[in-house]
Amino acid sequence: MTAARAHHEPPLSQTDPEIARLIAEEEIREGDTLRLIPSENYVSRAVLEASGSVLTNKYSEGYARKRYYEGQQVVDAVEELAIARVKQLFGVDHVNVQPYSGSPANLAVYLAFCQPHDPIMGLGLPAGGHLTHGHGVSITGKYFKSVPYGVRESDHRIDLDQVRALAREHKPKIIWCGTTAYPRTLPFAEFREIATEVGATLCADIAHIAGLVAGGVHPSPVGLADVITTTTHKTLRGPRGGMVMCRAELAKDIDRAVFPGLQGGPHNHTTAGIAVAAKEALAPEFKAYARAVVDNAKVLAEALASRGFRLITGGTDNHLVLLDLTPKNVPGKVAAKALDRAGIVGNYNSIPFDPRKPFDPSGLRIGTPAVTSRGMGKDEMLKLAAWMDQVVAAPEDEALLARIAGEVKELCRSFPAPGIPV
Ligand SMILES: *Cc1c(COP(=O)(O)O)cnc(C)c1O
Repeated sequence: MTAARAHHEPPLSQTDPEIARLIAEEEIREGDTLRLIPSENYVSRAVLEASGSVLTNKYSEGYARKRYYEGQQVVDAVEELAIARVKQLFGVDHVNVQPYSGSPANLAVYLAFCQPHDPIMGLGLPAGGHLTHGHGVSITGKYFKSVPYGVRESDHRIDLDQVRALAREHKPKIIWCGTTAYPRTLPFAEFREIATEVGATLCADIAHIAGLVAGGVHPSPVGLADVITTTTHKTLRGPRGGMVMCRAELAKDIDRAVFPGLQGGPHNHTTAGIAVAAKEALAPEFKAYARAVVDNAKVLAEALASRGFRLITGGTDNHLVLLDLTPKNVPGKVAAKALDRAGIVGNYNSIPFDPRKPFDPSGLRIGTPAVTSRGMGKDEMLKLAAWMDQVVAAPEDEALLARIAGEVKELCRSFPAPGIPV
């Protein structure tokens, strides 16, 4: 046992009261509002402690037992633990836990498998894809020849016929299968078939759904995709970070691409947080959590539909609901801002074939990962739907918004958020 050590310095509240106060304010904001942004969550106190540790002080370029700096006795053990737990959690041969976040994880895949100007395919941003899957403003759209695919106009599901036709025509080096605003199960097997036919590397980007995959409530791309990238901070409920998983024979290519190809020293405090989150995700309670995320999303979706909200694809299979507010005669941004004033925090979002502009779109994107982490269930989802209905019906009624914000705060008091002092 190491003896407990005491601090010999003053705390943040004394050395920098401005930042200390802002952090305290954010704790209150996160604690007293309903967090519905589907990419957000609450990490546990344990994950916060690990990611706020002295591991942030250490340089460790390279990989465990093959570093370019000395003093790696502890860091090697941390990274090896993180890797072993993630491999067990997802059942993969290899994982690189060093990417700084989801976007750098994806860049590493391009670096591993593409040359500049090679054709690549991903779901277009307006259809629910991610910037890093080849969007024009992203480096991935500027340095590679991006061939976006979309969703069908009839039902807003991924248009696999179009994916196949474009893949045959353009012979992409990489095909991305991954989404940020798609409420349905991803068809990994169908993508595998297409990628094999045209000789593309299939990359599943499970940033949003990693926790659902780990919890067994969304099909896993393992055994189908060549490479799997993810963030660690969305449904997986870890610290802000990224990972790349792959079969053993691609391990060297991926590792070389992350370091020295793209990054310098890994963020060891984050690696420790990932190890802690992976341990939490391996516990049986995490499966129940993942199930509850999906159940809550379904209840919320049905309750909203019964109140006249239009749901993209008509419902949800996962953690998120994409609403088309056109029938409510309220733009997405107006609704999102009014909901925020009422303590209900989501985000305005484009919908497929949106007639409005991306900065002022028709949709609202909400999700259940964070409220489920607080232990909320069916009753709370029904309340939430009722509040949302009231706000969207009168987004300029400030008295109404203030009253609902108070009720939201009251509800939140009964469901303390992980990691936040009460
Ligand atoms: C969030 C997300 C990313 C990017 O993650 P960052 O950590 O924000 O860089 C990449 N791909 C998908 C599908 C995402 O949802």
